[in-house]
Amino acid sequence: MRRLILFDVDQTLIDALEHHNEGYRRAFKEVFKVDAELTEIKFSGKIVPTIIRDLAELKGVTKETAESKLEEAIKKVEFYAKESVERGRVKVLSGVVKLLKELKEMNHVMGIITGSPKDVTLAALEKAGIKDYFEIFVFGPEGKTRAELVGLAITKTGKKFSGKEVVVIGDSIHDIDCGKPYGATTIAVTTGFHSREELMSHSPDYVFRDLTDEQIVSLLS
Ligand SMILES: [Mg+2]
Repeated sequence: MRRLILFDVDQTLIDALEHHNEGYRRAFKEVFKVDAELTEIKFSGKIVPTIIRDLAELKGVTKETAESKLEEAIKKVEFYAKESVERGRVKVLSGVVKLLKELKEMNHVMGIITGSPKDVTLAALEKAGIKDYFEIFVFGPEGKTRAELVGLAITKTGKKFSGKEVVVIGDSIHDIDCGKPYGATTIAVTTGFHSREELMSHSPDYVFRDLTDEQIVSLLS
């Protein structure tokens, strides 16, 4: 069966956390005049505007200020994160390159769905040396929810895939949930900030420690 395999990016394929953190730190200092770290909130699987709102609230920024400066903050987060990626390194997680090669040889269509914006994601995938494995890209700002992003990815293939032909792979409970409305196969990995128990409570089809597991290729054949 030929499949559409949609990967989450952060903590699934790569670790670019220091760059995202740098983006939020510098943007919050400039826009809201406060010291803020991304890791102070539960950010995993969330889209950028949600993270900014949550972090602003934690830092005592009023709702009015947060909303009126939201667009400016989004732009600055992305700008500084991308700049950090370009200056630094991006770590590719274990098993990723081997798995991508094998899936590509099996003629599957591979895509990216991420809550992050376009420029920083492409810069990070490029730096990690894995961008060219993917044909379909859907970025955070394209939808209001993560589930919408899956629908957009399917649309971008000309709606050639449905149900179990669609596979969503990610490290967060939101990655599992977003595949459910489409009847997609969901695969969770414990390389992020959610425990195996937490992931299991959202009933993915499979949970693996990381992408080195040989079973992943066999179940997608
Ligand atoms: Mg992730």
